[in-house]
Amino acid sequence: MTKSERNPKRGACRRTVPTLGTVHVHVRAPGSGVPYRLLLVGLFLVLVALLQAGPADAADARAPALAVLLEDGAVLGAEQALALQREGRFRDLPAGVPKFGIGSRPVWIHLAVDHASSEPLPRQLLTGVPWVERLDVFVLQDGQVRSVQQAGDGDAALRGPMGSLGFAFDLSFAPGRSDVLIRAQTADPLVMPLRLLPLDEAIELQRRHDYGFGLLYGFLLALIAYNAMIFIGLRHRSHLDYVLYVGTFLLLSLAYSGHGIARLWPGQAGFQQYVILVLMVVLACMGLRFASGFLRLEQIAPRAVWGVRGFCLAALLAIGACTLFGLQSAAVFTAFVVVQVFSVLMCLIGVVGLRARQDGAPYFLAGAVSGMVGASVTAMAVWRGLPFTELTFHAAEFGFAVDGTILALALADRMRRIRVQQLQAEHLAALDPLTGLRNRRAFAEQAAPVWSTARRHGRPLSVIVLDLDHFKRINDSHGHSIGDAVLVAAARAIERDCRAGDIAARWGGEEFIVLMPETSGQQAWAMAERLLDSVRSIDLSLGGERLGVSASVGVAEWRGHDDLEELIREADAWMYASKRAGRDRVSGSPPAGDRAFAG
Ligand code: GH3
Ligand code: MG
Ligand code: MG
Repeated sequence: MTKSERNPKRGACRRTVPTLGTVHVHVRAPGSGVPYRLLLVGLFLVLVALLQAGPADAADARAPALAVLLEDGAVLGAEQALALQREGRFRDLPAGVPKFGIGSRPVWIHLAVDHASSEPLPRQLLTGVPWVERLDVFVLQDGQVRSVQQAGDGDAALRGPMGSLGFAFDLSFAPGRSDVLIRAQTADPLVMPLRLLPLDEAIELQRRHDYGFGLLYGFLLALIAYNAMIFIGLRHRSHLDYVLYVGTFLLLSLAYSGHGIARLWPGQAGFQQYVILVLMVVLACMGLRFASGFLRLEQIAPRAVWGVRGFCLAALLAIGACTLFGLQSAAVFTAFVVVQVFSVLMCLIGVVGLRARQDGAPYFLAGAVSGMVGASVTAMAVWRGLPFTELTFHAAEFGFAVDGTILALALADRMRRIRVQQLQAEHLAALDPLTGLRNRRAFAEQAAPVWSTARRHGRPLSVIVLDLDHFKRINDSHGHSIGDAVLVAAARAIERDCRAGDIAARWGGEEFIVLMPETSGQQAWAMAERLLDSVRSIDLSLGGERLGVSASVGVAEWRGHDDLEELIREADAWMYASKRAGRDRVSGSPPAGDRAFAG
């Protein structure tokens, strides 16, 4: 809040406003097990800190003697205004920053400066807000006007604001008593956090403001650039929406801090008058667009989407019409109403998303609440309801920076979830749903490198093909579900018998395959017999009667086959050989030693 004191050494009124304190927000990455409630609590504490900063200063009893007069009717001259002040027609202002609301009548502010020393006293008068249409600053001594300066953003001929501290007037006070009269006129919220500072203090204050804004702009730009890259790479719509939303806020921030007109569009008074208002409405539309996409509003509340679209369209049309027809007061009103409705809508959409259990909804809601509180605090600070302080004035930027951070975290969290889902889907796509063994496609994929390594290095490699005997009969006599149970039991048995490097898969209906690296025909034969034993010992009883299961097995060892299919065909042929030989047996390539063709 405005703090002021009479400085006896300097012999002048000094008004200073404390600048924004540093607030550290620690946000843990999502997915690290930290519940989002912690985020909410942190956010809440920050907002409490923000709100706490105001009232303490508001009670400052040492506020300077500021007096104001609302101009009624004809435009007054400085001498006339001074005469009215002498007559006591000015109203003494209580402590705090003078605020006159939106669309106020022109305001005269009177400030007395007593200067005891014999040297002229240089001072810089800062208005604090950069959106006043016209300012006339008069310095009078002995009832005579000694200097007049004009500034404002309402006319290209006027000097514009110098940045976030608003308009600057270099004044010089002759020894003795001087009267400063300021006439301010604007359709925007008329708020006058005046400061009268020695030049070095004004420069220092400006530097601190510039660092603060540099930090904010840099932070927002980093978020924008990061999400733009992700959008270019991944084409997720939410990242583009994020870039548009945060980008609009950055532009709005540039415009309403005065940096836009001071550096980007100097002298464009007509543009400056509307750009803030239009950007406020565009920000609302971009925010709602992000919200609808991010929380998949179309799926969870299709009718709400039409409501949101209708609101955006109406808001854009209204602000467009006001701009086109030069209805500035209506534009100010429209922009402020749209932003308030927008804040509420964002929170409502967040609640809808939360109730529909959309992932990321808690983050979104936390961000929306932070943005809403920040915007409302700023609106109340410049309009009415809350004292104007550096903290309350900049609450919108602060709330939005928190909002942007939380939403970036939410998008990162969503990317992680999508990746996990993809991995799960890939994993599931590789498995046979009934038995949980690899399917044919996954077998082909995983077998290919094993095959080529074995071939390249001339290492032993074998294949086993196993087909359950008379499986159709099991189905026919006991039902399909019993058939399924047999298949699952056979798959478990195969899994149990396989070594770590073996690749087992369900090859067809009741046919299984195992590829065994570093395994000779002889070793594979032994394995095939183990497998057959395991199948035989499948223990399924039906009505007290044990179900007998057997299989026909074929074994083939790599001996110069050109490709894996050829080796598998051979194992398959041996499996059929087992069938022909009476089933329930192993057949295979003639091993190097003494083993017979079929066992
Ligand atoms: P063989 O001893 O000559 O192999 O005779 P088989 O009856 O085992 O062979 P056939 O090829 O005639 O029949 C295989 C049966 O396996 C036919 C098919 O309905 C059944 N089958 C295939 N997939 C499944 C499945 O997932 N579950 C069940 N329960 N049966 C299946
Ligand atoms: Mg069969
Ligand atoms: Mg078969």
